[in-house]
Amino acid sequence: MNAFLPFSKPTIDEATIASVADTLRSGWITSGPKVIEFERQLSAYFGGRPVRTFNSGTCTMEIALRIAGIGPGDEVITTPISWMATSNVILEVGATPVFADIDPVTRNIDLDKLEAAITPRTRALIPVYLAGRPLDMDRLYAIATKHNLRVIEDAAQAIGSTWHGKPIGSFGDFVSFSFQANKNITTSEGGCLVMNNEAEVLLAEKYRLQGVTRSGWDGIEVDVLGGKYNMTDIAAAIGLGQFSHLDKITSHRRALAKHYFATLGLDFEAKTGAQLPPAEFESTNWHLFQLVLPERMTRPEFMEKMKAFDIGVGFHYAPIHLFKLYRALGFHEGMFPVAEHVGKQIVSLPMFYSMTMADVDRVCAAMQEVLG
Ligand SMILES: *Cc1c(COP(=O)(O)O)cnc(C)c1O
Repeated sequence: MNAFLPFSKPTIDEATIASVADTLRSGWITSGPKVIEFERQLSAYFGGRPVRTFNSGTCTMEIALRIAGIGPGDEVITTPISWMATSNVILEVGATPVFADIDPVTRNIDLDKLEAAITPRTRALIPVYLAGRPLDMDRLYAIATKHNLRVIEDAAQAIGSTWHGKPIGSFGDFVSFSFQANKNITTSEGGCLVMNNEAEVLLAEKYRLQGVTRSGWDGIEVDVLGGKYNMTDIAAAIGLGQFSHLDKITSHRRALAKHYFATLGLDFEAKTGAQLPPAEFESTNWHLFQLVLPERMTRPEFMEKMKAFDIGVGFHYAPIHLFKLYRALGFHEGMFPVAEHVGKQIVSLPMFYSMTMADVDRVCAAMQEVLG
């Protein structure tokens, strides 16, 4: 009998575990030298742009909105197909979330619909790179520039992804990443924000730690309302270990994705009515391998049948606008039909670094049975 194959699983090597142990013994377990080193390495990877770490990918986006001065009366456009964090942060700062429907092929926000949703009150965009797949970044920034909008990229899933060879995060406006346990690299929980200049960094540091600015031996001042969002050295030690494997992780995921396509075969969509992701191996980091199920099979039915083969299936995501919190703001069914369809039928197949080609074969064989 096969062991249970989850849809995602972190891999932490022994060197990283030893480094965490060293940190625990060091006498300095909150933000310290490991955080500074992690930020230095991230910044080098992002082409020298300033980077600060935080204790989640959610708070990085909230802090970016605060730095951009987004608040009550401002509209922020985002996608309905994401983790609710993406739009919750808009509400958190008192601004108004505006959704635009997704593209049925990429499952990312449709840039035509995004542009059509811009009003005189629009101040910012929060694009999401679902499964790590970037948008057309040239077009995204052309729209932002034309309408004078800030961009807070929710690149939570996109570390290692590229656009014309440049890492996501190495260009653009604010770029937010998550290091939550299921992401391509993890700190157990955590995130980082890539910024544009030292003034933004100064504000990010204040928002990260109660608004505090220190000077001299005992100088202390508070001039903005900050929170408690700092990353610990324990988390940063995990992050440093993980980050050293980023290239290997990305290329292994690309190889797994290629093997999914090869094993399922060219006639898989015609035979089953299921919809595969775009077969693209240059820019996306293959954070997820997602299938949209045919109408004839519900997601719970598919999940249960795959479970009988000891295979875990995830789903990312339910449409945000149909959650109670958002319905109470006036959102309802029928507003974003593509997102509503995809949100009902999308599943995430197993995809993680320690997965083997034989595991992919196993998932594909089970799917031929289940959807066959
Ligand atoms: C994981 C994720 C988040 C939230 O990140 P946390 O680190 O869990 O706060 C936000 N948006 C997307 C698209 C994500 O995948």
